[in-house]
Amino acid sequence: QKAEWAKLKNERSVSADGKQFIVGSNIGTPKDLTGVLESGSEGIGLYRTEFLYMDSAELPTEEDQFQAYKAVLEGMSDKPVTVRTMDIGGDKNLPYLPLPKEDNPFMGYRAIRISLDRTDIFKTQLRALLRASVYGELWIMFPMIATIQEFRAARDIFEAEKAKLIAEGVAVSDDIKLGIMIEIPAAALLADRFAQEVDFFSIGTNDLIAYTMAADRGNENVSYLYQPYNPSILRIIKMVIDAAHKYGKFVAMCGEMAGDQIAVPILVGMGLDEFSMSSTSVLQTRALMKRLNTVQMAELAGRALNLDTNDEVKALVEAEVYAN
Ligand code: PEP
Ligand code: MG
Repeated sequence: QKAEWAKLKNERSVSADGKQFIVGSNIGTPKDLTGVLESGSEGIGLYRTEFLYMDSAELPTEEDQFQAYKAVLEGMSDKPVTVRTMDIGGDKNLPYLPLPKEDNPFMGYRAIRISLDRTDIFKTQLRALLRASVYGELWIMFPMIATIQEFRAARDIFEAEKAKLIAEGVAVSDDIKLGIMIEIPAAALLADRFAQEVDFFSIGTNDLIAYTMAADRGNENVSYLYQPYNPSILRIIKMVIDAAHKYGKFVAMCGEMAGDQIAVPILVGMGLDEFSMSSTSVLQTRALMKRLNTVQMAELAGRALNLDTNDEVKALVEAEVYAN
């Protein structure tokens, strides 16, 4: 099987009936580029920049960050690179940035909430990204967006830094896409409003499932509630995809679910545009897509949405896609 998959390395990701998808990679550091380039990936759908902050003894400077972003953008040539701004907090702490002690850190001061409060840190990151933007195709997304005001505030800071750099005579791309992670149910429910303001969505199912099920993703006592195929989760995802497409916007997924071989047929049926995952799953997913028909998968997704449980959906996909 692996040998069969390897043959797809330089091919596009296309369904049996000819619809194109993008299968991309998730990375944590520029070192992961080697794996991305070997994987046949069509882009980077998630660059988790918090590792830059976590692997450092102090706040990374604008120059440190610029070098890292430039390396990734150049390494990918003209393929899209989606960089997520710092997602610190939750279970990710920085020794040099003391965060308040909280009872519920996953529902607390984290990600964009920190960035919009510590705008000094946020502006440094955005400036580094803006300066790197001329070295490739840069998309930027904000993590843990709950409200439209948060997105607007982040966008305004981005636009202001961009204008300042231009005034300073620094070259920046005029084609940077700005998007949000959909990982809080409030944002998913308002996706039709967000879709009118953002360039793209990226569904972060790791957190979206946790917050929808109210089950901490790291807590073993409730790990049975991590149910990516539960029709509740499928419905919320479908809503987000439809809302984006209604306004001609692009929808990616960068949570674990995007590379899940039971979920992929359903997501293909729902018309998800990009699937971003660990580089090691890229070719297997491309091979799976190649044998799926989008019309049949849309019908399969429709049936899945009307089942009752995670297990029923899994059994349905196994019977329809994987039997014989
Ligand atoms: C997610 O929540 O699905 C996601 C991709 O972000 P992270 O796993 O880094 O929280
Ligand atoms: Mg997340």
